[in-house]
Amino acid sequence: MHKRQVAVWKNGWLQHCIHQPSPNFAPRTDPQNVSVVVLHNISLPPFEYGQGAVQRLFTNQLNNNEDDVFLRSLTSLRVSSHFFIERDGTLTQFVSCEDAAYHAGISRFNGKEGCNDFSIGIELEGCDFEPFTSVQYDQLIELLQAICAVFPIRAVTGHEHIAPGRKSDPGHYFQWEKLCKEYLPVVTNYQ
Ligand SMILES: [Zn+2]
Repeated sequence: MHKRQVAVWKNGWLQHCIHQPSPNFAPRTDPQNVSVVVLHNISLPPFEYGQGAVQRLFTNQLNNNEDDVFLRSLTSLRVSSHFFIERDGTLTQFVSCEDAAYHAGISRFNGKEGCNDFSIGIELEGCDFEPFTSVQYDQLIELLQAICAVFPIRAVTGHEHIAPGRKSDPGHYFQWEKLCKEYLPVVTNYQ
């Protein structure tokens, strides 16, 4: 049973999760305007879980000696989400929510370009081709509630929606209906 805790924040860091600080962020131009949450999926190497490679990517620790050729191709990338939720629900934070993590790339929400500047990025360990786990949804909903308690979030959307044609995550298997208004006082991509 997932134990619900009261969310405590300090300088944009959620206190009851793993912290692995990443340098892959910029200061926000308007720290008061953190209004969107962007959901992603990621697996490294592709379709493999629990290898620790996502955490190493987000903290610039991949190197040219990686066994996996795909991982070697990522060594010069400078990216990170704010949060990463593993298949077993483990939650890790990489960047303070007061800063703009490099998670969205070229993107647009409601006509506004450059979503990194005004959004919080959450990566779910997974891919476009299989369902996410129920403990991931439990952790995600709890995290979204903690975020909405302190930031003026107006929408929860997907990388595929802010970068259409370029990105496809969180993908077909993500169940937007689990984020209905029963849990969150914000607009989501659930139709
Ligand atoms: Zn993404």
